[in-house]
Amino acid sequence: PTTLEEQVVLLTGVASGIGQAQCEAFLSAGARVVGVDLQKLDPACPFKDHPKFHFMQGDVSQSLTAKNATRLTLEKYGRIDILVNTAGILDGFSPTLETSEAQWDLVMGTNLKGTYLFTNEVLPHMLAQKKGTVVNMSSIAGLVAGGGGAAYTASKHAIVGYTKQLDLDYAKQGIRANAIAPGAIRTPMNKADFEGEAEMAKWVASETPAGRWAEPEEVANLTLYLASDLADYIHGTVIPIDGGWLEK
Ligand code: NAD
Repeated sequence: PTTLEEQVVLLTGVASGIGQAQCEAFLSAGARVVGVDLQKLDPACPFKDHPKFHFMQGDVSQSLTAKNATRLTLEKYGRIDILVNTAGILDGFSPTLETSEAQWDLVMGTNLKGTYLFTNEVLPHMLAQKKGTVVNMSSIAGLVAGGGGAAYTASKHAIVGYTKQLDLDYAKQGIRANAIAPGAIRTPMNKADFEGEAEMAKWVASETPAGRWAEPEEVANLTLYLASDLADYIHGTVIPIDGGWLEK
C-alpha cells in the first residue's frame, strides 16, 4: 500500500497559510516533518509540540539556512524523502517600472533562489537513496499574467521551468519533481483582500468559476498526493488548483 507513514519531509514556509496546512496534513498521514520559516511559530500552532515535528527558524534565501535545515533533518531522521518548497512572498502587484532592485531581489531570492538552494542541498541525499520527490510552489501567476506584479509573476513562471528541468535532469535517477499552481487561497498572504467590505475578496470569488476561494487544506491535499507514490508517474508538471480560473 502507498503510504506517507514515517516518510521524512523538509518543508519551507511552515508558519502560515499553505505551509502550515501542508505540515498538519503530512503529520496526520504519519510523516515526520522538519519545518522552516522566517517567522517563529504562533504559540497557538497546533503541531508546535508534535513528536514528529521540528521547527527551524531561517531565511530560505540564505544558503546557510538550506544547509542547516538539511543537516538538522538528517541528524533527526537519517534521510529526506520529500522536499516541499512553499515559502514565498507577494510583491504588491507592482509593474516593472515600480519594482525597485531591492524588491526584485527580495521576491526572487525568496520564491526562486530559496527553492534552488533547498533543492541543491537535499538532492544529493535523495540521489544517494535513489528516490526522492520535490514539490515546488508556483501559482496561477506562474502560468499567466495578472496574478502578481513583475517580480512575483517572473518568479512563479521561473519555478515552473526550474521544476521541469529538475525532473528531466534527475528522473532516471529516481527523482520526481512537480509544481503546484494555486489560485485564490484564503491565507494571511491575501488578508488585505478580506479587509473592510472585502470587495476584492468578493470580486475574486465571483470571477472564479467555482465561485469561491479555497482553503489552504485543499492545496495540502494535492501536495500529499503529489508527494506520495500514488503520483509515481506524474513528472515535471505543474498542476493548477484554481477553481477553474485558468479555463477562461
Ligand atoms: P503566507 O504569507 O500565509 O505564508 C508564507 C510563509 O512563508 C510565511 O510563514 C512566511 O513567514 C514564510 N516566508 C516568507 N519569506 C520567507 C523567507 N525568506 N524564508 C523563510 N520563510 C519565509 O502565504 P501562503 O498564501 O501560505 O503562500 C504560500 C506559498 O503559496 C507562496 O509561495 C505563495 O506564493 C504561494 N501561493 C499562494 C497563493 C494564495 O492565494 N494564497 C496562490 C498561489 C501561490
